[in-house]
Amino acid sequence: MAEARSRHVIIAGAGVAGLTAALAFAVRGYPVSVFERAPRLEEVGAGLQLSPNATRILDRLGVLPGLRNMAVRPDAVVLRDASSLAEIGRVPLGAAAEWRWKAPYLTAHRADLQNALAAHVEREPGIKLTTGATVRDVTPHSLGVTVSVETAGRISQVSGLMLVAADGVWSDMRRLVRNAAKADFSGQVAWRRTVRADSVAGRALARIGVGGTVNAFLSPGFHLVTYPVRAGSALNIVAFTTGKAIGETWSGSLDTKILKQAMRRTAPALLQLADDVGEWTVWPIHTVRHDTAWFSPKGVALIGDAAHAMTPYAAQGAAMAIEDGETLAGHVLARPDSLTAALSAWEAERRRRIERVARRGRLNRIAWHAGGPVAAARNLLLRSRKPEKLATGLDWLYGWTPDQR
Ligand SMILES: Cc1cc2nc3c(=O)[nH]c(=O)nc-3n(C[C@H](O)[C@H](O)[C@H](O)COP(=O)(O)OP(=O)(O)OC[C@H]3O[C@@H](n4cnc5c(N)ncnc54)[C@H](O)[C@@H]3O)c2cc1C
Repeated sequence: MAEARSRHVIIAGAGVAGLTAALAFAVRGYPVSVFERAPRLEEVGAGLQLSPNATRILDRLGVLPGLRNMAVRPDAVVLRDASSLAEIGRVPLGAAAEWRWKAPYLTAHRADLQNALAAHVEREPGIKLTTGATVRDVTPHSLGVTVSVETAGRISQVSGLMLVAADGVWSDMRRLVRNAAKADFSGQVAWRRTVRADSVAGRALARIGVGGTVNAFLSPGFHLVTYPVRAGSALNIVAFTTGKAIGETWSGSLDTKILKQAMRRTAPALLQLADDVGEWTVWPIHTVRHDTAWFSPKGVALIGDAAHAMTPYAAQGAAMAIEDGETLAGHVLARPDSLTAALSAWEAERRRRIERVARRGRLNRIAWHAGGPVAAARNLLLRSRKPEKLATGLDWLYGWTPDQR
């Protein structure tokens, strides 16, 4: 009797994309192995915004209750002029978002999201997560793929239906789908810091009136975003400036003179933050071209930042990784007779969505970093729009729901 094709799904990377994909495949009855290069899932990173298109999926996968304790449901996104601190636009969130988009808008520390996903993965008997294990290569064959995994200097082989490559922006797995894209430095850096709400910087932000909301302070060539995380006990602060390429890192450093120069037109209360928050970690923002292959017919799919890292100006990096994991599992389940057809349909569907989201991010950057008459026109337009009208403009993004497969 001919040997049956394996249903075992192998995943490289236990970031947001890899862990979501693991849960999405497991709830559909696929046995899953996740291999993570890091020795353990560490408390790294800073804040993330999770819009309803992402939390809807987390809810479907059962992760939302575990995350809600540590996340915050902000009341609004408030856009402000960084020099006057005056409000120029507002998108209602909180209960209004939950009513409008049928899922909450949350802000969370990346580690809290990763922990909530990992806790669920651990409870799922169909998933085996191994840390300290680097996926090195894949060999396709008639029954699926054999993946080489390096653990403590030793290579072992694992066979399965397919490899899901969720190895992040500096992906090595891209070569496995003949995707020659490299992570390109965008010329922009993100200065990040998480501070306690009762710290000097936290109290200064509270005086500006940021309490319980996402705030974006806009200035020519610069913007700063802050929102609560860790059940409201901390604030995530992230400032965007031009900067130098400082390598492939989530926690580099640069001279704060660059930040202060970019903040020179901001209100004194904001400028003071450059010193008050303590040591900034600097993330050189890299992107990956979207017009390249995301799958190989031989059974490899790239998801999350590995496929399409984008600038964070639409705050959709984690959300797109979550959407990728869920939709990939749905497509594979829907076409059990042809993995190639499943991956091809998945890629086509995702490409349309990712391109639209990336375009929105590019537009946000131009609008938020504008100066002179363009900034004046932007402020006029935003001030004339009712908050509900601004929310309507986000229906395509936040109201998106994956097909039930
Ligand atoms: C350390 C870190 C900190 C971050 N901090 C923030 C932040 O503060 N704010 C924000 O918006 N975004 C942050 N991000 C990015 C954010 O998580 C992603 O943009 C988004 O969630 C998409 O996630 P991803 O799973 O595609 O990639 P990632 O989150 O980058 O996950 C990729 C995972 O793959 C693992 N890996 C890589 N190569 C291999 C291999 N060969 N075999 C096995 N495992 C491998 C990596 O160790 C990593 O855990 C951070 C990412 C990392 C890795």
